[in-house]
Amino acid sequence: MALYSKQPLSIYNSLSGKKEIFRPISEGNVGMYVCGPTVYSNVHLGNCRTFISFDMIFRYLRHLGYKVRYVRNITDAGHLEDDADQGEDKIAKKARLEQIEPMEVVQKYTVDFHNTMAAFNNLPPSIEPTATGHILEQIEIVKQIIENGFAYQVNGSVYFDVKAFNDSSDYGKLSGRKLEDMIHNTRETSGQGDKRNPQDFALWKKAEATHIMRWPSPWGEGFPGWHLECTAMSTKYLGEQFDIHGGGMDLKFPHHECEIAQAEAFGTKKPVNYWLHANMLTLNGKKMAKSTGNNILPHEMFSGSNPNIDKAFSPSVVRFFMLQAHYRSVLDLSSVALSASEKGFRKLMQAISDTHKLPTTTETTGIDIANWEQRCYDAMNDDFNTPILIATLFEGVKFVQAVSDGTQSITLKDRERLHTVFIHFVFDVLGLSEEIQNQDDQHLSGAMKLLIQLREEARKRKDFSTSDLIRDQLKEAGIELKDGKDGTTYNLS
Ligand code: AMP
Ligand code: ZN
Repeated sequence: MALYSKQPLSIYNSLSGKKEIFRPISEGNVGMYVCGPTVYSNVHLGNCRTFISFDMIFRYLRHLGYKVRYVRNITDAGHLEDDADQGEDKIAKKARLEQIEPMEVVQKYTVDFHNTMAAFNNLPPSIEPTATGHILEQIEIVKQIIENGFAYQVNGSVYFDVKAFNDSSDYGKLSGRKLEDMIHNTRETSGQGDKRNPQDFALWKKAEATHIMRWPSPWGEGFPGWHLECTAMSTKYLGEQFDIHGGGMDLKFPHHECEIAQAEAFGTKKPVNYWLHANMLTLNGKKMAKSTGNNILPHEMFSGSNPNIDKAFSPSVVRFFMLQAHYRSVLDLSSVALSASEKGFRKLMQAISDTHKLPTTTETTGIDIANWEQRCYDAMNDDFNTPILIATLFEGVKFVQAVSDGTQSITLKDRERLHTVFIHFVFDVLGLSEEIQNQDDQHLSGAMKLLIQLREEARKRKDFSTSDLIRDQLKEAGIELKDGKDGTTYNLS
């Protein structure tokens, strides 16, 4: 009997606003789609949190014995600056600013994304499709939506007719918004540019003469709207109806709402059975975001070179810190919280390695291991409650310490079971890895702190030859100092 039959999983479904027992469409198989990154800059730790949350979910489903097809896309076209239909394409803009090809931008940041995912021990998805690789599929969907009467063509662009859709369905069912309220709250009375109504969104946009990323279509040269790619790729690889769709909370509206509308207008009854949304990572109480600069990049975290943190933290510690919060709760990142997680993580790793060495007895074991193991499952079965799982695992840590101290006892068989439970939950499910602590990063960060301080002191006493020497020699060694309003930071070139 598969483990999933014995461990009923309930998942909070954003669509119903309730926890529901998870029942996949096809027994033993799960189709899961997660919106991937827009590859126009380095992923920050906020993005990483969402991908770590879904990696943990992917891992647990696999652990339960499901065969999971996990599709996570790469957005390499169509995502405009304001997340709606205005502004320049984010990738095209970066290409223009750096004077390189858009596909060079895509390549550079896709590689960075993959390296970052590997550093955090995220498993690769089963399929990682790109928007530009699925232009034909997107065009076919637009054609069908026009034929079904839910989209209209204007001046080489095609817009989704939200009002027409809302007449036969419910636009806003995921985000809990009502179209009447959206109309009421919009200042514009007429459509935005070519749109009939401001709520309509682009399925296909005409490429102006200066727009470099363009493809031929029945409506002239253009490019797909941002929401369309996910409908096209999820349908292609998971079918018109599939089990789980995930992404960050900020994608619920408009992105996911529009995905549902597109799929239903295409002819699918209910495209997704369970909608999952991961909550935001904040810094100084504000959402981490690329656009505002309120973020920390993974390499800055691993080297300690960001002014918001006072030392380096390893990928395993950061992952552990993130999983100590429930994926649906907001989490604020700080040095203090990370330091506490670091201590906890080390304690956990120590206990796991000590398990092998515990003295055994032929009599009884001081805790009920089977009950402890089931409580670990109960935590995960309750909407992937990793903070409760970690608290339960720490009961095991305490017990290991008690056996080491001689105040508790364990049989040989239970010692093996204890170890197996740790391995399953800590390494397989939470995806933590033995800390490959980058000692070099730690040492560099300590030495750099000292050099930055010496340079600062030299500048204060107007000894500019010393301060310049420090800066120039570091530059020669491939370390660039940057003076900002929060102090001096460094980058490895
Ligand atoms: P983007 O590349 O902007 O499309 O974002 C990729 C993923 O990261 C999406 O699922 C976003 O919802 C998610 N994301 C963006 N900012 C944060 C944040 N501060 N915390 C958690 N997830 C985020
Ligand atoms: Zn998407």
